[in-house]
Order: sequence, then structure tokens, then C-alpha cells
Amino acid sequence: MTVELICVGTELLLGNIVNTNAAYLAEKCASLGLSCYYQTVVGDNEKRLEETLRAAIKRSQVVILSGGLGPTEDDLTKEVASRVMGRELVEDADSRKCIEDFFASRGSVPTENNWKQALIPQGGLVLPNPNGTAPGVIIPEKDTHIVLLPGPPHELKPMFENHVMPYLMKLEPGLICSQTVKVCGIGESKVETLLMDLIDGQDNPTLATYAKTGEVHIRVTAKAGSEKEARRLIKPVVKEIKSRMGSNIYTTEEDVTLERAVVELLLANKLTVTCAESCTGGLLSARLINVPGVSEVYKSGYVTYSNKAKRKLLGVKKSTLGKYGAVSAQTAEEMARGLAFVSKGDVAVSVTGLAGPDGGTEEKPVGLVYIACSVKGDVTVKEYHFSGNRQTIREAAVSAALTLMRGCILEYYSEITFGKK
Ligand code: ATP
Ligand code: MG
Repeated sequence: MTVELICVGTELLLGNIVNTNAAYLAEKCASLGLSCYYQTVVGDNEKRLEETLRAAIKRSQVVILSGGLGPTEDDLTKEVASRVMGRELVEDADSRKCIEDFFASRGSVPTENNWKQALIPQGGLVLPNPNGTAPGVIIPEKDTHIVLLPGPPHELKPMFENHVMPYLMKLEPGLICSQTVKVCGIGESKVETLLMDLIDGQDNPTLATYAKTGEVHIRVTAKAGSEKEARRLIKPVVKEIKSRMGSNIYTTEEDVTLERAVVELLLANKLTVTCAESCTGGLLSARLINVPGVSEVYKSGYVTYSNKAKRKLLGVKKSTLGKYGAVSAQTAEEMARGLAFVSKGDVAVSVTGLAGPDGGTEEKPVGLVYIACSVKGDVTVKEYHFSGNRQTIREAAVSAALTLMRGCILEYYSEITFGKK
């Protein structure tokens, strides 16, 4: 079954707001195993919206529209959808009551135009909106299903999850299950290259890759008559992905994040951890400390932003800073060694880099980051080149630090296992 998205709003066309609804809906539809071939953004214009909707229903079985369900003149999604589907707009008593209650609970009264939101295309299914006044609507037809959702994401998301997803799952008989394989330390294009034959040849299960900051998620989705059967289809594909991705996979569990995987690795090996951060300014510690149970392993963190702090708190040599600069492999290494010494952490991680936007040179451009990781005195230093703005560079550096920590710990213990230590 194919699904298509139409996001309505002149604000979207002008770039005043980011179309997060499209990203959200597309990802959810993919997780349901629905194929989405078109997404359109159209302004609050009756004629153009009508044309867009007419084109959409010719080629897709499900058309999801977001936005334009509000009370004002420029909110015309429901009116256009009713006309295109040949349905009258009729007042829905329950929706009228919901609007009354919504305003009463806030100690105010609806204005005349609010009642417009209680009008529903004849034969439409009303989707309640506990977070706003505009109900959603599904207009079912033999081969086409039109779904109208409110624009504000905090209204759209619960409505989609509580009402639209169950509806779509009933339309497509069978059950959809998915499993996500999460990898780090390898880019999306490399992941795709390694899995190309699996992605190309996919049918059931389907395979999709999603790039995240510093990691890639591979989602395997299967459709079957029962969950057991769907899981049986997924299993060999995940096994094949595991054999190709090896230790780059940090989890196959939905709720395990990279930082949680690192904390679990530290816990399993009874290792304590400590961080010294320059350009990331505490973000690495913050991500680790987000993980419940981290108190068992996390000792301390330093934000050593100035050269003086690097010297005073971590013992980085003045000559090192003078000769190689604060953003250098040598400084990163001395930061990690000094940190391991002062904090007595088993794993000591340091980050130093140029997050920009100013301060870059040809030799040391913005985005250059050095990360060092010491595991019981064994230090690994890596150089990275990230792109983007200050925030994205800092976030990429944190993900890279977590990936490096994970890699160093795994290597340390594999060397013990193979008798190299
Ligand atoms: P309202 O009752 O608030 O008018 P509506 O259903 O008519 O809701 P719009 O008027 O189109 O929706 O948009 C209302 C607000 O919802 C926008 O100002 C914006 O903040 C948010 N919004 C709308 N569309 C999107 C979208 N595609 N992605 C993210 N946010 C959106
Ligand atoms: Mg509106």
C-alpha cells in the first residue's frame, strides 16, 4: 500500500517553520511498512491545494494531510478535502461538545469561527484531539483514504499514534514488526554499500537505513500473519547484517542509545570513566549522565576550555601547547594521560577541537577535532574532520568520543583474550 504526504501551510513554503511533521509521518509510515513515494508542501491556497490533493488520490491509496484544520479563514484543508471527495460538511455533536469543554476548562468561551472546527465531512471518522480544538478526520473511500491532521506537532503526533496507526494497520491485513540494528563508527554510504544487495533485493522484510549524528540505524521491517512469523522473517536478515557489520553494531535493541551501550560496557567490565572536554564543553559528560545507573561508573568530568585550565587541571605541558597548539593530537593525548592521573579513572577521554565559526586556518580548519581515550594507560588518539555549524560539530564530536571509547574498551579486552596483554 502506498501513502503520500501533503503538508499545508504558507509558513512552510516561506521557510518560517521547519517541516518536522513530514519527517515524523514519513518515518512512522516506513515503520509500518508503507511505501511513501511523494511528499508535497503547498501553501494556504484553495486552488493549489485542490490540485495537489487530486493528483495525490490518483496515485496513492492513503493521503495524509497536515495543517490547516484551525478556525481561521486561511485554514481550508477540510473544506477542500470534502469537495474533492464529494462529501458535505456536517456538524458533529461530539466535536462541538469537545470544543465547548476545551474552552470551559481554560475559563474562556469559543469565538464564532471555532465552531467551524466541529464540521466534519459526511461519513468521516472523527479523531479526537485532547491537545487542541481541531479534531482530525479520516475520510474512508473504497480505494482511497484521506487523513486530515492538525498542524501543531504536539497535537498531530498523539493523534497519529493513537488513532491513525491502528487504522492503517487494519487496512493492511497482517502484522508489521521491525527491529533496528544500530551501528557506529561507520558512515551511511559505507553501510549502504555493505548492504546494497540486501536493500535492492528487499521485499519482505524491507530494509532501510537512517543516518543519525555519528551513527546509522538500519531498520528491518517484516509483514506477516503473526508476530512470531514476522520475527522469524526478520531474524536471518539481522543475522546477515551482524555478520557484515561486526563490532560496529552497538545494539539491536530499540531503546538502547549509544551512550547507554557505552555505560553498559563500562559496567560489564567494572571500569570507571572520566572526561576532560574543551570544545564540547560538558556535552559528553551530559550524555553519559543521561543514562540511569551511570553513577556506578562515572567519576568526574572537567571542562578545560582555556590553555591555563588544561595545564593547571590536567598537567598539559606549556611546551606542548606552545609547539603544537591546543587543538592537536599531542594536547589531546596529554589531556587524557593527565586526566587518568588526576582522576584515577580506568577510562579517561579527552576532546579538543575547533567548533568555529571563527578561528579556523588552512592548517587547522573549523571542524578539526582530536579525541584521546586512555584505557588503563593505553592511549589512542584520533583526528576527525566534522562539518556543519558550531552545534553540529560539537554533537558530532560527542558521538565520536562515545564511539572511540567503545572501540578502545573492546580492543583492550580482546587483546587480553588473545593474550597480547
Ligand atoms: P491551528 O488550529 O493551530 O491553526 P492548524 O491545523 O490549522 O492548527 P496550521 O495553522 O497549518 O495548523 O499550523 C499551526 C502551527 O502548527 C504552525 O504555526 C506550526 O507551528 C505548526 N505546524 C504546522 N505545520 C507543520 C509542519 N508541517 N511541521 C511542523 N510544524 C507545523
Ligand atoms: Mg491554522
